[in-house]
Amino acid sequence: MKQTFAKVLSNREVMPGVYLMWLKSPEIALKSLPGQFLMVACGEETVLRRPISVHNVEGDKLALLFMVVGKGTEWLSHLQIGDSLDILGPLGNGFMTSAEDKNILLIAGGIGVAPLRFLMDKVKSSCKQVTLLLGAAAAEKLYPKELLPPEVNLVVATEDGSIGHKGLVTEFIPNFVIAADRVFVCGPMPMLRYMAEHQRDLKLTNKPVYFSLEMRMACGLGVCYGCTIRTKSGLKQVCKDGPVFPFNDIILDEMTRL
Ligand SMILES: Cc1cc2nc3c(=O)[nH]c(=O)nc-3n(C[C@H](O)[C@H](O)[C@H](O)COP(=O)(O)OP(=O)(O)OC[C@H]3O[C@@H](n4cnc5c(N)ncnc54)[C@H](O)[C@@H]3O)c2cc1C
Repeated sequence: MKQTFAKVLSNREVMPGVYLMWLKSPEIALKSLPGQFLMVACGEETVLRRPISVHNVEGDKLALLFMVVGKGTEWLSHLQIGDSLDILGPLGNGFMTSAEDKNILLIAGGIGVAPLRFLMDKVKSSCKQVTLLLGAAAAEKLYPKELLPPEVNLVVATEDGSIGHKGLVTEFIPNFVIAADRVFVCGPMPMLRYMAEHQRDLKLTNKPVYFSLEMRMACGLGVCYGCTIRTKSGLKQVCKDGPVFPFNDIILDEMTRL
């Protein structure tokens, strides 16, 4: 893990309020694994660093995909080419893949696509099939198709039906989960709740399913214990033991309490 000042190579709005920022950071890019995150210093008005996933890596460059929701991400959205960004990472465990996997299912709700893009590049050459179930409220909030690797089998669902299937992305899980060797998910809390409450109907039981949790966290380093949750295998720190957890380990009530 390193703290470094990365140079901003580009920063553009790819969907309304969502920015894709490429940074030059050999120290962190070369060490990052899919599913890991950075703690990003977001200017003088925010005391705490903000956790942002490693969205993608190309050589010594790494990308962040962030949605503007408050002061920190607003500050990030104004960074220009050539600016410096204070980042700390890579942090967390990342996604647990296996060389045996031939069919991978990825499920992304909204900005939940952020940690999954790098994983696609990692598994696309060793797997016969990588399917991405990508859900958003409407067409304009959908991660752009041209930023995905062409090898990925893309299945789109929008809540208003403006593109792809009409409905929640979770409704399409049963159609794809049977064939999958492993399933990786990232999305908002209602998506986690739906999946937990309909685990059997969605045919998720007896499958290795991993969920990347986005909890509020203060230090990101396992020092403050602020992101501690109770799981079926004991107390865990989301920043250090996660953010990726076996789906079966997550206690839903514990998550909604926070
Ligand atoms: C491991 C991890 C990885 C993440 N990766 C990404 C990513 O790749 N892209 C991205 O856009 N966001 C990501 N997030 C969420 C991101 O950290 C928050 O959106 C960010 O900290 C908000 O900072 P802010 O100063 O802009 O907003 P704040 O002013 O701090 O908060 C504004 C609003 O956002 C909500 N919020 C704040 N922090 C979080 C959080 N950690 N999770 C969910 N909601 C939050 C608050 O409840 C509030 O409603 C990640 C979070 C974690 C824990």
